[in-house]
Amino acid sequence: GALIAAARNNHGKIEAIVSPDGWPPEPQHHDVMVVGAGFAGSVMAERLASAGLKVLVVDRRPHIAGNAYDRRDAAGLLIHQYGPHIFHTNSPDVFDYLSRFTEWRPYEHRVLAQVGDQQVPMPINRTTLNLLYDAGLESEEDVEAFLAARAEPVDPIRTSADVVVSRVGRELYETFFRGYTRKQWGLDPSELDKSVTARVPTRADTDDRYFTDTYQAMPADGYTRMFERLLDHPNIELLLGVDYAQIRDAYPHDHLVFTGPIDEYFGHRYGKLPYRSLRFEHRTLPQPQVQRVATVNYPDEATPYTRITEYKHLTGETGPATSVTYEYPSAEGDPYYPIPRAENQALYKRYEALAIAEGDVTFVGRLATYRYYNMDQVVGQALATARRLVRRLATPMDG
Ligand code: FAD
Ligand code: UDP
Repeated sequence: GALIAAARNNHGKIEAIVSPDGWPPEPQHHDVMVVGAGFAGSVMAERLASAGLKVLVVDRRPHIAGNAYDRRDAAGLLIHQYGPHIFHTNSPDVFDYLSRFTEWRPYEHRVLAQVGDQQVPMPINRTTLNLLYDAGLESEEDVEAFLAARAEPVDPIRTSADVVVSRVGRELYETFFRGYTRKQWGLDPSELDKSVTARVPTRADTDDRYFTDTYQAMPADGYTRMFERLLDHPNIELLLGVDYAQIRDAYPHDHLVFTGPIDEYFGHRYGKLPYRSLRFEHRTLPQPQVQRVATVNYPDEATPYTRITEYKHLTGETGPATSVTYEYPSAEGDPYYPIPRAENQALYKRYEALAIAEGDVTFVGRLATYRYYNMDQVVGQALATARRLVRRLATPMDG
């Protein structure tokens, strides 16, 4: 592939530039090479650069921001190339850190699930049950009694089926979780760790927000703009459209930060670690709005996609057209989700042992530590990892 270098225009914006032959003439020495310009790599790079280290960031994609990358589509609307990313966190440290690089647009995410010809709140709450069953539930006690009559106790709770069945019973489990999960993961919920469906609570009240975190907001100018500011540091150089394997030897460095898939780094020595992929279908429709809320989930197994997201709800943008993304789960394609189950964790642990033995390499992020982390968790992990690494690498003079 063509080598692409990043350059800054005079507004500090990063632009990808396809290089002339032989660029760059003489690769310079860097203290640290960072593989990946997503949350993990960019936060590591910013922290290391601010500690005085010279950092080279490389990403094989032709853009920064990793899976959080957003861009304007043909209709001029901001869309998320790799599926909808909604920021939420309970960590003031993570929120304050990112706030150095962006303003925020307050946004609380809401999701409806398509069940038959109805759209009902997801996570399941009192409204959901009243709409589905005409149950006339008036209080939290009513809901708890309704659910208790259906719940099938499971002990111990191990799988993603157990979590739901033990709380809401088999019928609601099948309506909302079984088909969606089988599509999303290509596995039955009984084959997945309980942590997967435990991400989605069941509520006795009428709170219809998807998240209840303290901080819920979208970067006011988008994720890509926030990453441009993160990476805009005199000690950071950026190479885009370049795979680590192509340049590992050409660019000397004392330390490596790797945020790609850990099994790939080790040449799949113990076999492939499973990651789930998605195919995104971006569409623009000639109408101002198409959905009542940002995301509609399709939990039935017959519908090939899992959800449709309409970006205007996230961005507050207006205009005559609207853009949406359909998510089609797939075994093939870019690695998006580590698949949480015991046998995969065991395989990851074997790679982790290799990683620990690799003295001059730090593994961080969702793919490199094989954790189903949200953005804020990756930022928290990167901040903690960077603190340790700076102590190790930075000389006192570097500040
Ligand atoms: P990534 O963003 O995957 O970045 C890794 C980068 O490394 C990539 O850009 C890749 O190209 C590059 N790379 C890998 N290997 C190499 C190599 N050999 N050479 C060069 N470059 C390499 N989180 C939330 O908090 N809220 C959400 O709503 C949310 N929605 C999501 C929706 C979807 C569909 C997906 C897939 C994820 C979602 N997430 C969400 C999770 C979020 O995307 C991740 O937590 C976050 O992006 C992880 O950052 P990262 O830097 O670890 O990995
Ligand atoms: N899930 C489900 N039905 C839903 C929503 C979620 O079965 O309507 C399950 C599914 O297994 C999904 C998991 O809960 O992968 C976590 O959902 P979340 O919305 O957190 O997934 P993500 O946004 O990370 O794709």
